Amino acid sequence: MHIEAIPTGAFQEICYIVHNDAKQAIVLDPGDDAEVIEQRLGKLGLTVAAYVCTHAHADHINALAALHANLPAPVAMHSNDWAWAFDSANQIAPYYPVPARPRIDTPMPLESAKDWEFSGIRFQCIETPGHTPGGCCILFPEPGILIAGDTLFKGSCGRTDLPGGNPRQLKESLNKLKQLPDDVLVFPGHGEDTTIGTERATNFFMQ
Ligand SMILES: [Zn+2]
Ligand SMILES: [Zn+2]
Repeated sequence: MHIEAIPTGAFQEICYIVHNDAKQAIVLDPGDDAEVIEQRLGKLGLTVAAYVCTHAHADHINALAALHANLPAPVAMHSNDWAWAFDSANQIAPYYPVPARPRIDTPMPLESAKDWEFSGIRFQCIETPGHTPGGCCILFPEPGILIAGDTLFKGSCGRTDLPGGNPRQLKESLNKLKQLPDDVLVFPGHGEDTTIGTERATNFFMQ
């Protein structure tokens, strides 16, 4: 399994591309700069097997519709976040407009299963509400890669003061992540990557 990190947009939200030797790819959190993401996919010769969104904040999904139009593939997102993903309130002026809606009626609801597989790439969905009502972390068990969205950051955690945020839920979600093995690599939606072991030992919010 291979992982590419592409910082996008004004908030440097990181879009991750997880791909296998068969050139199949899962695109996670295509936040902005659709053409940059598409170029990287093309350069690596990858086929998009699915788009997976950890949550629906505008800085994480603004490139979804444009990518999906050019490179169609299933979209997976928690229903609790899909419910408001394209509402007028989901913009971050002046940096992000209201996200365009991809041409699908509903996504594959991430809450409907723990174990997922697209084109031979397996992952698990860990529901981690608190930053948003439908927040999820995505775990690729081999070799232990966690795409953490805005739930867990190196030395910090997601804010809970935005609409739909809930500090008690976030605490419970961080407790879930604490159960993962030490050597799981954590790739957050913003900033540096880390490991579960490092965060359990040093992150105040994981104590
Ligand atoms: Zn967010
Ligand atoms: Zn974010």
